[in-house]
Amino acid sequence: IPPELRRIMEAHDLLRKFYHHLLLNTKEGQEALEYLLERGFTREEIEKFQIGWSLPSWDFAVKFLQKRGFDLPLMEKAGLIIQRDSDDQYFDRFRNRIMFPLFDHKGNTIAFSGRAFGKDEPKYLNSPETPAFNKSKILYNFHLARPAIKKQQKAVLLEGFADVIAANRAGVPNGIATMGTSLTDYHIQTLKRLTDSVAICYDSDSAGIEAAFRAAKMLEQNGIHIEIAQMPEQLDPDDYILKYGGEKFRTEVLGACKTFMAFKMYYFRRGKNLSNEGERLQYIEVILSEISHLDKAVERDHYLRQLADEFSLSLDALKQQQQEIYFSDKKGGKKEMQPERQIKPFVLQT
Ligand code: ATP
Ligand code: MN
Ligand code: MN
Ligand code: MN
Repeated sequence: IPPELRRIMEAHDLLRKFYHHLLLNTKEGQEALEYLLERGFTREEIEKFQIGWSLPSWDFAVKFLQKRGFDLPLMEKAGLIIQRDSDDQYFDRFRNRIMFPLFDHKGNTIAFSGRAFGKDEPKYLNSPETPAFNKSKILYNFHLARPAIKKQQKAVLLEGFADVIAANRAGVPNGIATMGTSLTDYHIQTLKRLTDSVAICYDSDSAGIEAAFRAAKMLEQNGIHIEIAQMPEQLDPDDYILKYGGEKFRTEVLGACKTFMAFKMYYFRRGKNLSNEGERLQYIEVILSEISHLDKAVERDHYLRQLADEFSLSLDALKQQQQEIYFSDKKGGKKEMQPERQIKPFVLQT
């Protein structure tokens, strides 16, 4: 390890311990601790995930680091402090935030994400890209989840840190999350070294549904088997577990995962009025195109029957149209449906 990088990690390590101590053992940290306990975090989790709290001071970290002999320009490079343009003064990046330390795959502390409690914006503030931290490479909880992912031969991909922690409480130790960004090829290669099966359990708001679709597509292209879990009522896993408990999360959310195809059937009908004939036929055409890309005849048959049943159509007609779509897609060189593809209006033959 280059000496600069080592120093950056040492600084993060010391601050992590101090933030953690402030949260758990001081009067100043009490309000933040109460906020977390109220949200359902347990002391055990606060310990396990090394959660902390940063003081509402402008220069606590600056002084803390300076006193311990850290070079301030290097600490700015580490993303812990910021130099003000007007007077070259250094001040803390993280103030009055719940501190989630971010670890690399070996368990070194390399960055922080600070969550505001109260009205501060942004809700989550991450360390910037630094010599130690590249957000497109790090998965939250990966270093702790690795053995469970390997053992269960499955990773559960969640949207936020709070979801990973709540899932862990619910008896799901193989949960991971990105840094609030999209899944990258690097993340996928990292996961692929452990398992070829991922359950996606993103928030059930529209941002989460779109992100789940994109993540599923990327994972599938990399040969990873995907399942998609969905929660009711716009909840995220953390809300769901708080409301319904861990047992129900395991059995009724993770235990009731959809296949990617079943998720597509849900995804492409959102916002459509299927009692409108034109929209209904358009939807059916999109789904037929998706079905035609399934590898297994049995799967194609299964979803064709489902479509036939739902819309009272003849299975033969659906099969025929699905094959036509398959061959025209192949001729056009189109292998896969893109999420942003414009759907041509379906013209009724009269
Ligand atoms: P909480 O339960 O604490 O409100 P959440 O995880 O439900 O948090 P979401 O709004 O669903 O928050 O966002 C999911 C993830 O996206 C967060 O965990 C965080 O990593 C990231 N994120 C959210 N808001 C921001 C932001 N303003 N800036 C950077 N990252 C963010
Ligand atoms: Mn969300
Ligand atoms: Mn959320
Ligand atoms: Mn949440």
